[in-house]
Amino acid sequence: MVFRSLSNGMEAQAAIERCRAFVEDPVLVDEVDRLLSGRTRKIRLRGRLHELYRERTFRQSSKLVRHWMMWIVAIDILGTVLNCTFLPRDVLIAALMPGGMILACALCVVTLYRGDGTMVLKDAGLVGGTFVILCSVALVGVIAGPEYYERYTSIMIFVALTAIVIFSIPTAWTWTIAASAIFILTGVQFGNPVVETASAVATVLIFAAGLAGAVVASQTTAILAQKSFLLSLRDLKHVSDLAVANQRLETLARTDPLTGVANRRWMTERLDALWSGGAAMPGRVAILMCDIDHFKSLNDTLGHMEGDRCLREVANVLTDCIRPTVDHVARYGGEEFLVLLSDVDGFDAMLTAERICRTVEASLLANPGSTVSRYVTVSIGVASATPETALSADSLQRQADEALYRAKAAGRNRVVSFDGAADTARLPLLGLASAG
Ligand code: GH3
Ligand code: MG
Ligand code: MG
Repeated sequence: MVFRSLSNGMEAQAAIERCRAFVEDPVLVDEVDRLLSGRTRKIRLRGRLHELYRERTFRQSSKLVRHWMMWIVAIDILGTVLNCTFLPRDVLIAALMPGGMILACALCVVTLYRGDGTMVLKDAGLVGGTFVILCSVALVGVIAGPEYYERYTSIMIFVALTAIVIFSIPTAWTWTIAASAIFILTGVQFGNPVVETASAVATVLIFAAGLAGAVVASQTTAILAQKSFLLSLRDLKHVSDLAVANQRLETLARTDPLTGVANRRWMTERLDALWSGGAAMPGRVAILMCDIDHFKSLNDTLGHMEGDRCLREVANVLTDCIRPTVDHVARYGGEEFLVLLSDVDGFDAMLTAERICRTVEASLLANPGSTVSRYVTVSIGVASATPETALSADSLQRQADEALYRAKAAGRNRVVSFDGAADTARLPLLGLASAG
């Protein structure tokens, strides 16, 4: 029981997921809009849209079919018990065969609807099963004798009528059920020796009109259900458009439009989250404040456009020099970038900073006005700590700023660590200086 409801839930979820996929199909979206902009009574779902509708409504319609068939089983059993009381023994025995057919057919359809067969197979099984049930009901009447014809044809029409109203199947199948009932009724009426031809014709016409009316009413109900399905698809489309727009806005809100790296706002939030415990604790972190040397003179000599290009190139170098997803880079000011390294000690932070410094210089971006080099260079201040020991993100950042200031003062195009945390034995080999 639990397993079945679980699998039903998963099927429903899968159907919703498929709806989402369909909503992304522009042809389908156009089709939904076209159908909704026309007259309701002209709504006809076709192709994939129809498949999707059947999938979405199948759970509910399958439940109805199964319950209806169990109701038929109950009526059949009740009818047999009553027949035991009213019918002579030999007639009763003859009537048991069609009664058993009704029971078997109803149970077969229930089993078919519980299984994994295709929708067409289920529809065909349902219509076929209903036809046999209608025939069997009429046959019980025929076996019971002419005085029972009326009762059993009424029961047969009643069964057909409820089937037409309840089954959510394509219109052609619904008409088939109505036609079968009229066909059986005609046979029974004209085969009844106590009914005159004129009376039989009148009875058939009246019941035929009633059944046709039921088919039309059930079609109208189906159209209204399909319209509400189309409206739900359109809502889904609107919701998904909104989610995409929100996602885009969120990306814009955290991205620097010129360089494509994160902006200051995002980095501040990230640092705050680290210190407040809102993000996974990364162990020791390092902040690298990177500032382009003599950037103003680059703007002055090569123009603002070239300055912008340089900013983009430097942002690319920074992104390439750090570990994706673990480390982060943000444009922090005009020509200033903040790099946040996670799970690094002071020495590794210095190595990364040095790599950035050398890679920027090796990129050979012209800066003719610089007094440091013919090419663009950066100065980097490094500070590292664990979020538990450092007072705040602000204080660590101030330390990195202080180290950057010293790097500038020491001649630019270099890396300076705030506390000299790097391996002092290896630093000279790398040409690194310490501010401590
Ligand atoms: P230092 O070596 O001391 O850092 O000198 P600097 O010239 O790099 O520093 P300064 O603060 O004097 O100049 C920064 C310049 O960056 C000034 C400003 O016009 C320029 N700048 C800021 N934002 C942008 C931008 O988005 N695009 C361009 N092209 N230039 C910018
Ligand atoms: Mg600068
Ligand atoms: Mg600056």
